[in-house]
Amino acid sequence: MSKCEKNKITSGTKEWADSNVNCYFGCSNDCRYCYAKKMAIRFKRKTEKSWKLMIPNEKVINRNFKKRQGRVMFPSSHDITPSSLNSCIIVLKRLLNARNEVLITTKPNLSCIKIICDSFFKFKSLIQFRFTITSLDNDLLKFWEPNAPRFEERLESLKYAYKSNYKTSVSIEPFLDKNPIPLIKKLAPFATESIWIGKMNYINRNHLKANESQFYKKLRKNYKIDNIISLISEINKIIECKINLKDSIIILLSKHSKEKSLDLPNKFVKVKDSYF
Ligand code: SF4
Repeated sequence: MSKCEKNKITSGTKEWADSNVNCYFGCSNDCRYCYAKKMAIRFKRKTEKSWKLMIPNEKVINRNFKKRQGRVMFPSSHDITPSSLNSCIIVLKRLLNARNEVLITTKPNLSCIKIICDSFFKFKSLIQFRFTITSLDNDLLKFWEPNAPRFEERLESLKYAYKSNYKTSVSIEPFLDKNPIPLIKKLAPFATESIWIGKMNYINRNHLKANESQFYKKLRKNYKIDNIISLISEINKIIECKINLKDSIIILLSKHSKEKSLDLPNKFVKVKDSYF
């Protein structure tokens, strides 16, 4: 893609796709910041312990799909894992046979990505991969996304899809490193489409064990406005295109610019002008 996509204002996953399809309840990755998990627990569909058990939704797995208006995101509230792959392939096949445009969102498992790439080559023009890769640091990934693949496996998956000539994009949401620029630089050569960056929306403060609170404390520091501003200015300088800010960052910047409009450094005024 040659055009800069940097100016889009985002709103959750809605600007990524017009509808979602999911064929499991629960997600074995068990990410600490998972919004789907939070909602499932709140509405008593799952518990803290049972969320990681992925239960197939037979109704979805066995249904046919029609051509939908706009892009379909698959999945959005579970992942494609070795144990869910077969059913995910059935659903994907039906979506693609109906000529739906599909955004495949996953913390990619290499064996799954190889099978999907090799199985759906003839539908390549309808597919875009969006791989969630939130840090270079496997210790951070292990803490926040305990059962998801390590960084190296996600990077290899991105490379595999890219080399197989699929459209590839990346979500760095929530960014977990204080400075995600080295991560962006590592991923950018293999993203044919945009790289999205966002912060964590809900950072738990309650019932944390001593060994957990240090991770939460560090993360809160990463999201301080000074760090976000210096990150944006780095993105502006180093990579001109392909970076989209998620609404979590846009809202923070917007709030800050209203409160401190007289004190903004020039480089931020430039960012603000281009984003709002
Ligand atoms: S991979 Fe997505 S759906 Fe699964 S636990 Fe993590 S945030 Fe939730």
